[in-house]
Amino acid sequence: MITEPKAEIAQRLAAVRQRIRDAEVAYGREAGSVKLLAVSKRQPIEAIRAAIAEGQHAFGENYLQEGAEKREALAGESVEWHFIGALQSNKTRAVAEGFDWVHTIDRLKIARRLSEQRPADAAPLQCCLQVNVSGEASKSGVAPEQAPDLANEIASLPNLQLRGLMTLPEAVPDFESQRAAFRQLRELQARLVADGLALDTLSMGMSNDLEAAVAEGATMVRLGTAVFGPRPEKTP
Ligand SMILES: *Cc1c(COP(=O)(O)O)cnc(C)c1O
Repeated sequence: MITEPKAEIAQRLAAVRQRIRDAEVAYGREAGSVKLLAVSKRQPIEAIRAAIAEGQHAFGENYLQEGAEKREALAGESVEWHFIGALQSNKTRAVAEGFDWVHTIDRLKIARRLSEQRPADAAPLQCCLQVNVSGEASKSGVAPEQAPDLANEIASLPNLQLRGLMTLPEAVPDFESQRAAFRQLRELQARLVADGLALDTLSMGMSNDLEAAVAEGATMVRLGTAVFGPRPEKTP
């Protein structure tokens, strides 16, 4: 971001909103049914301020230290903070105390800690269960077969509210393969709902596959580069 970051982010954000609207129309989705989570990891605070000035409310962060600094700097603003990074069990307190949402729960141990550590005066932590639909050993996320049991256990924890499923599939270039991964998540969610869980969130789709995700029912797309431009190499 060398010149006029504010104007550039305003333009990018307008283009992203149009992209989401176009996808809603193209795939028969209700207008406004896809929410934008602006992924601000490694972006400077001024970039977040610029997006807030354009009416953006929800921001996603991957790193705890960086997230804490940004929350502190923006404490006076009305912002909904989403944790979308890897969760380690010795780091759950910072998420439980500092964030409104977490998208990356994939183990019961972590979910229990988040529930125990959620401050009593805070609203329940809004959660998504991360599912590994592409079956890669390296990616985090619970296997689809194990998702129903884990979802039911998470849903019973007192200070968490399970809202739905999240996935971060293997990057594939073609639209039909992108859709196939997102379809698995949608079908899994439909089974959980049929079994009685009240879920309303499918967190899927990033800057390069948002159309495929909207086509398959995404309700929250997590967009970083499309909103802010390329990420700086290092945390600011
Ligand atoms: C970085 C990140 C994104 C955003 O990726 P872009 O390709 O920049 O849109 C979305 N979800 C997660 C979990 C991420 O880590």
